[in-house]
Amino acid sequence: STPGGLKVQEEKILVTVRVRPLSAKELAAYDLVAWDITDENTIVSKNLYHERHAGPYIFDKVFDPTCSTWKVYEEGARDVALSALSGINATIFAYGQTSSGKTFTIRGITENAVKDIYEHIKINPAREFALKFSALEIYNETVVDLLNRESGPLRLLDDPEKGTIVEKLIEEVVKDDQHLRHLISICEANRQVGETALNDKSSRSHQIIRLTIQSSLRENSRCVKSFLASLNLVDLAGSERATQTNADGTRLKEGSHINRSLLTLASVIRKLSGGKRGHVPYRDSKLTRILQTSIGGNARTAIICTISPALSHVEQSRNTLSFATSAK
Ligand code: ADP
Ligand code: MG
Repeated sequence: STPGGLKVQEEKILVTVRVRPLSAKELAAYDLVAWDITDENTIVSKNLYHERHAGPYIFDKVFDPTCSTWKVYEEGARDVALSALSGINATIFAYGQTSSGKTFTIRGITENAVKDIYEHIKINPAREFALKFSALEIYNETVVDLLNRESGPLRLLDDPEKGTIVEKLIEEVVKDDQHLRHLISICEANRQVGETALNDKSSRSHQIIRLTIQSSLRENSRCVKSFLASLNLVDLAGSERATQTNADGTRLKEGSHINRSLLTLASVIRKLSGGKRGHVPYRDSKLTRILQTSIGGNARTAIICTISPALSHVEQSRNTLSFATSAK
């Protein structure tokens, strides 16, 4: 408990792993499957050629390549997502190397969360809901509005009440679920604009979709209780950007390879899950500053780690599983 005697509830981070199917390219190259999912919580290296770090690795859930995105949502994100309806900030991350399935997964999670949230709104007529939508991209520590790319780099400001806010970020009032889906599609199109101009941009950039959910409980047309929280859906840069070595273990010379926000996020997560008090380096990157009030403390966090099943990617998958282990 804190010095004031107030007990701070610190939730564990929900950590799951999703293994995608072998891609057509991997199949064509006769790549092998490097991992066995031995039960719904456990993944272990088939250990064909590698002896070290074979596992078993144990998580809240391990999803095999046949798992639907609904199942991944239900067991790896749903409780966290819905907590935003009752005033608890929530963040869901997709973490993994480039091409492991982050975007595929976070899109599916977003679709299901939107459906689910509107279901809850429908069955809760006693509560009045107001939803706002915003979305941004962080690339090279530069923040861009995904609803309005033209607005250029956005500044972060420290607000005494709200914490870090993104200056001039558009917050669109959401009319209904169809409107929300439309806003998401605008962001996806805007993200792709940058993509063609710069080849491996998606491996370097982070995308945050933020839904701010406000609601009030009314009795005899009097507001008796109100809630406010945000749900953040985060498609992270490729996790290979958080490792300072090549696949063969040699140190990389090129400094630009490293992604500051991703590295800082990893240390923030390790700090939080380590259960130790003390300094959490939120302020060391844009990503962690923006998400500060939505990870750790009273917020709820889920991390879905995505890996390729292929033997050719075994080193990066192992890095991802070690990160996932440190987040538990
Ligand atoms: P990332 O965002 O991590 O770079 P993507 O989400 O773009 O990776 O996925 C790479 C490719 O694999 C895409 O073509 C995507 O459709 C496919 N893919 C990823 N996960 C799955 C899955 N669980 N089932 C089927 N296809 C998938
Ligand atoms: Mg992607």
